[in-house]
Amino acid sequence: MQLPLEYKRELENLFKEGSEYRRFISCYDEPPYRGIRINTLKVCDERFKEIFKFKIKKSRFSKNSYYLEEVVKSIGNLPLHHAGAFYVQEPSASSAVAALDPNPYEKILDLCAAPGGKSTQIAAALKGHGLLWSNEVVGSRARVLLSNIERMGVRNAVISSCSPEVLCEKLCGFFDKVLVDAPCSGEGMFRKNPEAIIEWSPEHVKACAKRQLAILKTAAKSLKKDGILVYSTCTFSLEENEGVIYKFLHENPDFALEDIDEQFGRAACNVGLSSELIDTSKARKIFPQDGGEGHFVARMRKVNDDAKKVHDFNYKTAKSTDNKLGYEIFSQLFNCEVYGKIVKAAGKFIILPEGLADIARLNVLRAGVLLATSKGSGWEPAHAAFMAASKDELKFNIDLDSGSSEILEYLSGRELSINDKLIGYVGVCVDGIVTGFGKAVNGRLKNKYPKGLRLLA
Ligand code: SAM
Repeated sequence: MQLPLEYKRELENLFKEGSEYRRFISCYDEPPYRGIRINTLKVCDERFKEIFKFKIKKSRFSKNSYYLEEVVKSIGNLPLHHAGAFYVQEPSASSAVAALDPNPYEKILDLCAAPGGKSTQIAAALKGHGLLWSNEVVGSRARVLLSNIERMGVRNAVISSCSPEVLCEKLCGFFDKVLVDAPCSGEGMFRKNPEAIIEWSPEHVKACAKRQLAILKTAAKSLKKDGILVYSTCTFSLEENEGVIYKFLHENPDFALEDIDEQFGRAACNVGLSSELIDTSKARKIFPQDGGEGHFVARMRKVNDDAKKVHDFNYKTAKSTDNKLGYEIFSQLFNCEVYGKIVKAAGKFIILPEGLADIARLNVLRAGVLLATSKGSGWEPAHAAFMAASKDELKFNIDLDSGSSEILEYLSGRELSINDKLIGYVGVCVDGIVTGFGKAVNGRLKNKYPKGLRLLA
């Protein structure tokens, strides 16, 4: 692999010992690490290991994160991937959320969230309680984020496509925890994606560091007092990692770096003076020789606060009769308790998450789960509502084996022949995990798997 000379020089300086540098550079002759994270919103690790046909090995970067021990061709086409049973994620990329340590009932912002690896990991840790706000400034990427959030069955997320400045000003002091997984020069992506090497230059590193500091300062406003701010990148550059944290802490004395209570990677470098209180070595850094493609993670606490309080929830709800129909729709499809307030807006029945803030003018693509849409004088259920349900919660279901031809037929958009006693909307499961729905009519299941998600012939 042809690496830029300036890059090699920087890394040689970074590793004080020549032998460590040689170990690092020899990693470029090896294939990259590949991994998956099991989505515990849909399946537990034990059950997943029974139904997943490929070899995996636990990683040390976070719970539910595994190395793929064999090459899996077109992994995104596997029925279990369609069902949201797992997310393809290189294990060290899961370290930032381990440092964030999300817990049920917290309000968490993921400011740079697409395509959603870390957001879906946060959602699994919240276990459906509290609020996840996933924001992505680039519109096309925000739509991919929404699709992944829906695939993984997340009930309590808001997806927006907003500039960090507008979002954090409006939601000032709202969140318990904030993740800034910043756009970076991607040095940790070189093995996986050699095209990242072409984009790399010392000037690009400088520009990234400037942008990262600006995003971090903006993100800081959205935190409550005592809140946690995690900054992460997938690059090795001192300027973009320790340098950004150092400048941020210098300019924001109301934040303090914390030790990360996780056993991964190594201590970062201390770029401050020894006489200073700021010690950037509390952050963690992961190199390929540490078992991951590359990540930097720093955890900070907002120890003081001058933030103003945000407005309370103020979602524009439609007439109460529409809400009533929403509850009726829910009870026709599912056996379980409704997990949020159902409102109707612009022809869509939506199950809102608890603890929502005012979402007006924040370019929100979705708040909660899309239950159904109006169709003529009736309604049609939404794929997302089924994805957010477990098999036990469905009124009617069929369960297909992940190795069967029928599941491939279903995922390709074709009709299935089914028991003619089934009538109406039926959830389709793969190995017990809901992956979509169809409409049963006279022993046939009309396919309702979304066109944009179907397997291509
Ligand atoms: N957290 C994501 C995940 O785990 O899947 C990966 C995030 S990626 C490293 C950084 C994201 O920041 C990209 O999706 C990019 O579009 C977005 N971004 C680019 N410029 C930005 C800016 N000025 N402010 C905020 N986000 C930005």
